[in-house]
Amino acid sequence: MSFLPSCRDVSKHLSAALDSGRPLGMHVRLHLTLCEACRRVLAQFALIRHGAARAGEAGPSLSDAAKGRLRRFLQ
Ligand SMILES: [Zn+2]
Repeated sequence: MSFLPSCRDVSKHLSAALDSGRPLGMHVRLHLTLCEACRRVLAQFALIRHGAARAGEAGPSLSDAAKGRLRRFLQ
């Protein structure tokens, strides 16, 4: 039995840490130094969080005519 958490456990810890802003525990950080798969998961989580944060930013908006066409299309 290893003292390191499993990849599944690390994934849960990563998600919880990113949601809460709490730092990762020592065993999780050690696992990340040894496991490329979990480092990829961490990078994907960070990318998703970055994308979600950017989704709330003001971006290009539709013209009134385009909004009207979209509204009619959706009805
Ligand atoms: Zn792993």
